[in-house]
Amino acid sequence: MNATIPTTLAQGLDAIVQTNAPLAAHTWFGVGGSADMLVQPKSEDALRELVRRCFMENLPVRVLGSGANLLVLEEGVPGVVVKLDQPAFTQWTLRPDGDANSVLAPAGVDVLKLLNTCVREGLDGICQMAGIPASMGGATRMNAGGKYGCIGDAIQAVATMNNRGAITVHPRNAIQFSYRHSSLPQELILWTLLQFTPDNPDTLRTKMLEIYKYKKNSQPLAENSAGCLFRNPIAQDGTRASAGRLIDLAGLKGFTHGSAFVSAEHANFVCVHKNGRANDVLELARIIQDRVRDSQGVQIEMEVAVWGRSFEPKEKM
Ligand SMILES: Cc1cc2nc3c(=O)[nH]c(=O)nc-3n(C[C@H](O)[C@H](O)[C@H](O)COP(=O)(O)OP(=O)(O)OC[C@H]3O[C@@H](n4cnc5c(N)ncnc54)[C@H](O)[C@@H]3O)c2cc1C
Repeated sequence: MNATIPTTLAQGLDAIVQTNAPLAAHTWFGVGGSADMLVQPKSEDALRELVRRCFMENLPVRVLGSGANLLVLEEGVPGVVVKLDQPAFTQWTLRPDGDANSVLAPAGVDVLKLLNTCVREGLDGICQMAGIPASMGGATRMNAGGKYGCIGDAIQAVATMNNRGAITVHPRNAIQFSYRHSSLPQELILWTLLQFTPDNPDTLRTKMLEIYKYKKNSQPLAENSAGCLFRNPIAQDGTRASAGRLIDLAGLKGFTHGSAFVSAEHANFVCVHKNGRANDVLELARIIQDRVRDSQGVQIEMEVAVWGRSFEPKEKM
């Protein structure tokens, strides 16, 4: 175990604990190094106690969702990675408190599984998420979505836990959702309350499949990637320019660097070969940024979170 983590850190916690835990299989890139410690708490109490202990020990805590917007570097991740994939965090409640049109979704809920259930139940609100792999916590954090809308459109409230274990409930009107961003504090997202409108399940199924078809026809969903690597930058007229188009104009579609390559189908998808290197992805990202800046005069920023010992997390609990 990493010398900075006391052996007693997770002692007595109702949790699955692994030291030097490889994270590649937990991410959609499928590459990269290990976390000093990976903890999968089995209850909210265990989670609260864990984050309090980490706070006391001054250890960094990172939350791993479904790993669909994450690059873990070979150098590994310091401190504790928490994954909310045990039943206490993956089971949603349809119509909590008798509210016919809402769903309470803990952070570990698989958004696509929830989407399928909502469609079957005749609840319309998250069809825009078709084809977007995410945990509820990860989707809420960055307001995931696209052409057809984003998760924030359906959010009624969000609960977060701070690094001392205190929980705050944020009502919808206290949260700003914008392009791939939520104004929530840099805390662990515990659950999201979603609001739906009733509709015919067959109509909803058609809508969901149409959105999925659009995505499947325009993006390389089967490759190892994290979706769009870069944020769409703000153009001079204030609208968002397509980062994919800028990369394409820089002549980089299909460009390869080691085991990483720019998709020939969608230039904002940077993919990596099986058993490839996360560092190749990061190096390629820097090459793309340089080429786009030099050829188009635009600075593009990464959307994907990068975890590594030499990287201060952008989002810190
Ligand atoms: C094939 C493919 C297609 C994609 N298409 C789209 C798309 O169309 N639109 C889109 O928006 N995205 C897309 N993405 C990216 C990804 O689906 C979204 O960013 C999604 O929201 C990531 O959720 P996650 O649970 O996987 O988060 P992770 O990748 O696990 O984490 C991402 C960030 O969120 C933080 N986080 C995760 N859970 C929590 C929590 N409970 N509390 C606090 N912070 C948390 C992590 O710490 C990290 O900083 C795509 C990805 C892939 C692989």
